[in-house]
Amino acid sequence: MKTASTQSYLLVDQARFANISQRLLNLDQNVLAEIIEKMQNGEHIKPVTESEKACFQVLHDLDHVSGKVKGSVTSKKYMRNEIWSLIGAKGAPIWYITLSPADIQHPICLYYADTKEEFRPEILLPYDERHRLICKNPVAGARFFHFLVETFISDVLGVDSDHRGLYGETNTYYGTVEQQGRLALHLHMLLWLKGVLRPEEIRKRLLDPNSDFRKKMIEWLESVHTGDFQTGTFDDVVEQVNKFSANKSYKDPTQTLPVAPQNALDYSTWHRQFEETVDDLLLKTNVHNCEKYTTKSSRKRKDKDSYGCRNNKWGKCKARFPRPLFNETTVDADSGAINMKKSEPWINTVTQVVTYLFRCNTDITCLLSGTAIKAVVMYVSDYITKSSLKTHTIFESICSVFHKNSEMIGGTLPMKEKARMIMTKVVNMISAKMEMGAPMISMYLLGNPDH
Ligand SMILES: [Zn+2]
Repeated sequence: MKTASTQSYLLVDQARFANISQRLLNLDQNVLAEIIEKMQNGEHIKPVTESEKACFQVLHDLDHVSGKVKGSVTSKKYMRNEIWSLIGAKGAPIWYITLSPADIQHPICLYYADTKEEFRPEILLPYDERHRLICKNPVAGARFFHFLVETFISDVLGVDSDHRGLYGETNTYYGTVEQQGRLALHLHMLLWLKGVLRPEEIRKRLLDPNSDFRKKMIEWLESVHTGDFQTGTFDDVVEQVNKFSANKSYKDPTQTLPVAPQNALDYSTWHRQFEETVDDLLLKTNVHNCEKYTTKSSRKRKDKDSYGCRNNKWGKCKARFPRPLFNETTVDADSGAINMKKSEPWINTVTQVVTYLFRCNTDITCLLSGTAIKAVVMYVSDYITKSSLKTHTIFESICSVFHKNSEMIGGTLPMKEKARMIMTKVVNMISAKMEMGAPMISMYLLGNPDH
C-alpha cells in the first residue's frame, strides 16, 4: 500500500498525468460495465469505440502506479519482459527447474518456526503439531524457502562459489516465486549454461549420424536427470520402502537431512543408500495421481487452485500424465527432438542429487526434449509469470472504486488529486484480490526477492 501511494504521488508531478486523470475521470461507466459482463461470459473483447479504448488504456495507466508494487499484475508483466530480454541476450535456456520445498516436513523450517535455540536435524513432532507450528509462523516458511533457494543457486548451480554447477557452468538463471494451493512457496527457474550451441545447431549435430556429439549429449543428459527410479520398478520400490518402514530405526527421508559421502563408512555403501533414499523420496513426493486432486463430486476443492488435473475440455491430465515411455534415449529422426529413456509413466523427470539434497517435489525438464524449443520457452515464460487475476477482475475493481467514492469524485478536490486517489485505491484493491497467502506476504515484508 505504501509503495502504491508513493508511486501515485510521484506520478502526479509528471506531465503525462494531466492526460491520465482526464481519461480516468471521464471513463464511461456503462461501457466499463458492458465490458465486464462480456468478459465474465468468456467473450474475447477487442476495443473498437473510443470509450472502449479508453477503458483498456486505463489498464496501462495503472501500470505506472502498480509497476513497483510487489506481486502485482504489472510486476509480472515486467518479469516476462526480463525473461525475453535474457533470451535475446543469452540465447535459449536449456533447463526448466521447479522446486517445491516441503515446509511442514523439513527440520530446518521447523527449527525456524519453533522457539528452541539448538538445531537438531531430526523431527520428533507429529504431523498435526508440525502443521500448527508452521501455520502460526509464516515468516519461518518464508525464511526457510529463501534459504533453500539460495542454497540451490550457490551449491547446485555453482553461482558465486568455488565449484562449477551440477549441470555445467552456469551462465544465467531466472526464477520466479509462486504460492501453491496450500499457500507454501515454490520456485520456477530457467537455467542458461555457458558454451551452449544454438538449438538449431544442436539439432543439426544430433541428426548427423557420423558425429559423436549425439552420444556425448545423451550421456550428459542421462547423467544429470532421469524419469525413472534408481533401484527397480515402481512395484519394487513400493515393496522395498514397505520393508524399510517396518524397521523401528526407519526415518522418513522427507523429514531428515542429506548425508555427505565423506561421513559414510565407504563410498559404495553410501551410494547404495543414496539411491534407495532417492527412490523413497520419489515415491513419497513425485508420483502423480490424477484422482488425488479431484473430489467425488468433481467440485473445486477449497485448498486447490484447480478442479483436478483432468477437469478441462479435453479431459486430459494437465500435468501431462501418464508420460510416454521409451526403452532408450533416442533422437527423433525428423525433428531432432530428444526422447529420454523412460519406464515409469507416473513420475516426472528429476535430478537425483537435487531430490536427495532438497527432499521435496521437484521437476527438472530439459528444454531440448521438446520439438520446438521456442514454443516451449514461450509457454514456460508465460506460465511462470502468469497473473492470478483476470482482466475483468481489474475492471471490476475500477468500477467498484468509482461507486464507493462517488462523493469524492463529485467533490471539490483538484482533478489531479481525485485521479491520484482513485488510482491508489484501485491498485490496492487489486492487490487485495490477488489473495496473497501469509508466506508470500512474509517474504515481501522480509524484503526477500520474488524473482
Ligand atoms: Zn493428472
